[in-house]
Amino acid sequence: MNRRLPEPIRGALADGREILLFDTAGTPVLGVDRRDLPPRPDGPVTTVRRDPRTGDRVIVAPARQDRTYKPPKQMCPLCPDPEGLSSELPVEDYRVAVFENRFPSLSGAGDTGPVVDHGLRVEYPGVGRCEVVCFTSAHEGAFAGLTPEHARLVVDVWAHRTAELLGREDVAEVYCFENRGEEIGVTLPHPHGQIYAFPFRTPRTQAILRKASEHRAATGGDLFEAILAAEVDDGIRLLLRTEHTTAFVPFAARWPAEVHVYPNRHVRNLTELTDDEADDLARVYLTVLRAFDALYGTPLPYIASWHQYRADEPEGYLHAELFSIRRSADKLKYLAGAESGRDAFITDKTPEAIAAELREALE
Ligand SMILES: [Zn+2]
Repeated sequence: MNRRLPEPIRGALADGREILLFDTAGTPVLGVDRRDLPPRPDGPVTTVRRDPRTGDRVIVAPARQDRTYKPPKQMCPLCPDPEGLSSELPVEDYRVAVFENRFPSLSGAGDTGPVVDHGLRVEYPGVGRCEVVCFTSAHEGAFAGLTPEHARLVVDVWAHRTAELLGREDVAEVYCFENRGEEIGVTLPHPHGQIYAFPFRTPRTQAILRKASEHRAATGGDLFEAILAAEVDDGIRLLLRTEHTTAFVPFAARWPAEVHVYPNRHVRNLTELTDDEADDLARVYLTVLRAFDALYGTPLPYIASWHQYRADEPEGYLHAELFSIRRSADKLKYLAGAESGRDAFITDKTPEAIAAELREALE
């Protein structure tokens, strides 16, 4: 049932970090990274502390303060550089590339048990992996500008990375995401996303899975299937419904623009999609991103957040959450007292109105 995933060319950067090149047509030739980089440490360089009040974990990563900040175009670390002198990609050209982040929040492998355990003060090693995914070698542009075939390759790359990283015993969750736009703190304009392999369950995933199992205990049914069916039935927040994919504004959207994308068939993660489903998902995803940009006539800052689960987990349904902090052509929504202080969102647009605006932007 599952489709075949692309096999990457693998190599190492000057400091030992792994790089993977994915292609569907030619075979990219990886050059030599000639930069003088200090070898990266063997194990984790960060720690994870547990908040004794909430149980939430906080990654403490002081070295990230030094990361590359808005470099000039000729110094872009994501543009191909066959000389191997100025970028993370020592290659003539590439389609989609993945490499380990030079300033990782999580790195290394091994034991995820606490290194400090003094009752209230519990600290874990920052085991895991942070990857950068370069969506295209073109410096200008955006995911929304990719061809459907190229977007499908990115979907397959996410799936490849998900399968490999979820296969690790010290990884609890694989999170593929994209931050787009300076407004939300992106420091490199070159189109790219990231993958975090967490050694723990993130708070949001925990909350979602807890709800799913409560729902099953109460009704005997699957929460995500029920949500999808209800949105299709309701119709008022529906954006797109194709043979294999559905996109809608959720009933309790938190953001001034928010869309959830589900495959119609229940799968746990991107690796379980068939070829047709993956093609269709890539097309719908592109359509939603293009509607985002059409909303105000300027590139919309957004976060794309993929929810995935292990195949053998009791709960979980692959879906993407896409949302923006822009609430009008010239205003941003800031997370202030209620949201940052209490996790209580206040939205000044009804989800139905957001859906109507986005439907208009689709055309
Ligand atoms: Zn670039």
